[in-house]
Formats: sequence, structure tokens, C-alpha cells
Amino acid sequence: MLSESVQDYLKAIYSLRHENERATTNALAAQLNVTAASVTGMLKKLAELKLVIYEPYQGATLTPAGEKIALEVIRHHRLIELYLTEAMGYSWDQVHAEADRLEHAISEEFEDRISTLLGHPKVDPHGDPIPTKSGEIATTSRRTLSDAAEGSTVRIERIRDEDPALLRAVAELGLMPQTIVTVGPRTDDATFIVCLAPGRTCQVSDQIARSIFVVDAT
Ligand SMILES: [Zn+2]
Repeated sequence: MLSESVQDYLKAIYSLRHENERATTNALAAQLNVTAASVTGMLKKLAELKLVIYEPYQGATLTPAGEKIALEVIRHHRLIELYLTEAMGYSWDQVHAEADRLEHAISEEFEDRISTLLGHPKVDPHGDPIPTKSGEIATTSRRTLSDAAEGSTVRIERIRDEDPALLRAVAELGLMPQTIVTVGPRTDDATFIVCLAPGRTCQVSDQIARSIFVVDAT
């Protein structure tokens, strides 16, 4: 069994790469809240374990073995988030931190039981895809609501889940996953208006709009 910290590094490299960012020493240090020196030490260890390939200017990439472990931890994380909201009455802004702790603790048996109990779900409460047991994961959109053109109609796919205050604001606006919205005009202060349904509008700040990922609503 790999240590919690090894699992967290692999997960962090996976998420940075997924967001099209380089998993450099500095990016990882910021994401994991550790010093650059400890990142360097850990990357050496992970390279020895053949879980990552590290190139100084490119940053770290996962080997197939490293990616398999990252997806396994992400599967735990997202199943736990859904279990906490569906079975235990947590709200969607409370589950990320709990899942960050519990994801390392549950056994394969426990994971299977949660998945069965929830009917083998495909997405977590924030719209993020849950990897399958064999490590397949659905592709997701990298286009945000902020990128969507005025007048276009889009479906909300997922929302960044690290910031509880942001999630509460998004819920207040009614911009949950699967909601279809038509993008209204931008205002001068970079706040823009999203029309939800005919007759109902809401104002979305650019900061929030950049945390909401969308796909075409067709
Ligand atoms: Zn989530």
C-alpha cells in the first residue's frame, strides 16, 4: 500500500495535467501546500518507483502505473462525495474536504459496496466523472461559462469543487450540473448576465463563470 502522501502527489499531478497545466515543482508545491524542496524529494522517489517521469522543464507526468493509482484514488474520492450527499445529507460544499481524508482509508470492498448502494453512478455531486473500477474515465469539457459566446445556449457539465464558498454561491444562483443556460451580454465590470429560463435571469461574476465547465446544449 502506498502512503497517503504518494497518493496525493499522483492525484495532484493527474489534476494539473487534466487542466492542461504542467505539473512543475512550483505548481505541485502550491497545490499540495508543501515546500519546493519536499516536492523535488518526492518526485525523485516517485520516479524510482516508476510512477512518474520527471523532466525539469516539462514537470512530472504519470506513467501508466502512476495513472492507474491516481484514478483509483479519484474513484474513491468521488464515490465518497456522492455517498456523503446522497446517504448522509451533506451539502455539496461540505464533501470535498471529507473525501480528501476518507479516500485513503477505504478498502476495495468498501468502495464496491458504496458503488452498488448508489447504483454504480457515473458522476459525483459536482458533475465530475467517476472512473470505473478498471480505470476508465469519461472525458470532460475544458470550456468554461466564461468562454461561452453571448447568445449561446450551453449545458453545465461540472463545477470546480475545491472552494466551498464558491459552491454555495453557484448553488444560490441555481447553476447546478445539467442546468441549461443561455449566455447574456457582459457588463462593463466583467460581470455578465446568464439567462436561465425565459423570464428568469441571474448575474454571474467572471470568477464564478471560470469555475463552471459547459458543453453545447444540443
Ligand atoms: Zn467532486
